[in-house]
Formats: sequence, C-alpha cells, structure tokens
Amino acid sequence: MRKLLQRPRRLRRTPALRDLVRETKLGPHDFILPLFVSERIKSRRPINSMPGVEQFPPNEIGEVAAQAFQSGLQAVILFGIPGEKDERASGAYAEDGVVQKAVRAIKAGCPDLLVITDVCLCEYMSHGHCGVTRIDGEHFHVLNDESVALLVKTALSQAAAGADMVAPSDMMDGRVGAIREALDAAGYEQTAIMSYAAKFASAFYGPFREAAESPPQFGDRRSYQMDPANIREALREVALDVQEGADIILVKPALPYLDVLWQVRERFGLTTAVYHVSGEYAMVKAAAANGWIDEKAAVLEIMTGLKRAGADLILTYWARQLAEWTRS
Ligand SMILES: [Zn+2]
Repeated sequence: MRKLLQRPRRLRRTPALRDLVRETKLGPHDFILPLFVSERIKSRRPINSMPGVEQFPPNEIGEVAAQAFQSGLQAVILFGIPGEKDERASGAYAEDGVVQKAVRAIKAGCPDLLVITDVCLCEYMSHGHCGVTRIDGEHFHVLNDESVALLVKTALSQAAAGADMVAPSDMMDGRVGAIREALDAAGYEQTAIMSYAAKFASAFYGPFREAAESPPQFGDRRSYQMDPANIREALREVALDVQEGADIILVKPALPYLDVLWQVRERFGLTTAVYHVSGEYAMVKAAAANGWIDEKAAVLEIMTGLKRAGADLILTYWARQLAEWTRS
C-alpha cells in the first residue's frame, strides 16, 4: 500500500484533539433573542406555528428580558403589537407606544442588557404593509419617502425611550441615512443602527406573521423586499446602507442565503448579523416533534454553519437554549 504522508484523521482522533483544532466556536454572546410584546393580551400567548415562542403582555416583558440576561444573553430585539392599528402606523412612533414602554421597563430593571428595537410599520398599519400605501384602481403602491418619514419618527421615539440600537427592517430606500441624520440631530449619535440590508421576500416568514400579527391584507411585499434570486442586488443594498451609516448589517433569512452572508462579510468587513427566521425554526421544531431529527444537535449545527459562513451575530428563537448549550 502507498505510504500516506497526509492523514487528516490524526487531528480527529479524540475529543481533546477535535476541540483543539475547532475553527468555529459558539458562545452565548453570539445570539440575540427576538421578543414579542403585545398590548392585546393580558397573559402570555403561545404562537402555534412556533412551539416554545410566546407573545408577552407589557407587564411581563421586563422580567422576561431580565431572565434572558441572566441566562447569559447580552441583547434582545423587540417587536411590538399595538392595541390599535391605523393607516398611519401611529403606534409605531407614539411616546407611550408598546415598544417604547417595553424599552423603558426593560432598561429600568436590567440596564446592562442591550435593547434593540425593530423599526418597521407593518405591525402598526391596519393593512399590514411595511410602509404608507396608495391604491390606484387595481394597483397598490408602497410609497417610499412618505414611509421613510414615519420610520424616522419611529426610530427617534425608540431612541428617546432608551433603545441602544434601532433595526430598520422595512427595506425602503434611503431609510438608514435618514434615520442616522435624524438621530444625530436629536443628540442620539451613540444610538447604533443595525440595518436589515439584504432582506429577501421569503416564504419562510409565515409563522412570524402570526407572532407579530402583521400579514398584509392585500398584495405582497415583493416591491420592497428583495428577489431571492439576486445576490449582486443584495451587495448593492448593503453597500448603500454602509454608505448611509449602518453600524451592523443584517441578512435575512439565514440558511437559503449563506452565499449572500459570506460575500457580505468578506466584502464589507462590518459586523454582520443574520436572522434565522420563523419558518426555519418551525421546520426543525416540526421534524423534532415527530422524532425525525435531534433538535439540539441540528440547532447547534445550523448555528455553527451560520457563524462559519460569516455571521458575527445570530438572531434566533433558540437564543435562550443556545445560551445554556454553549456556555463553556
Ligand atoms: Zn415590516
């Protein structure tokens, strides 16, 4: 038999050797927990399509966030469901809006936990779109600049409430620059922006819409979210958000877009986040519930893959369990 010089298996022989040469390691600080706070409920409400995920009433959100911090996480991202929706998304930028109150409650009890706020209008709009709409006969339009004006108001009110970071997820053009300018002018130059720079019009958002109670009442989101087929366009979107002042850039969803994540991380070098979305969560949960997959092993493999592909931060509904599983 031919003499082998190269034997890669030498370094896989024992657990200690495998630990020694592991390239990608996970820890609690890699994960950000999405939390849903709703003014429409008085007690926790489970989300059917996302087993283990709940909506919380405003009076419980402070405690839930504090528990997340104690588990080792250092950041949460808040999504709000207002008591009332309207055509101007008033609840998104109300001083006493559901997210604004939740930020204050969390910061009062747990000042060191980083609070990121979702900046979008869909949860607050009666029609469920991420911007202001106009209907011409059979066609509807989501108006860009009118929407950006409301997104800016939303981000400002969240910063005023004490958010450490605002995260515009709407995909309107120019919103990062407009938000940065307004935050700076109002004295919030330390409030960071995590921009959903490449957010695709994905089939994997279904369960989230139940969680955030934000399905569009008509039409779809393809005129603002991106075509899943396009990576050059994604890089252009990211380049614009970087120019406009984004501090962290985010790719969403996760697993079907690993090539986008990789290129974004390589090309721009900024802190890069990825959102492992509700549909991706639900698939693993459903398979695990049927005994077809080992949930913990699958989740750790997915998260390792995301980090290996360039993610510095991962938004995931498993954040709490991952904090426990990855604490060394
Ligand atoms: Zn939206």
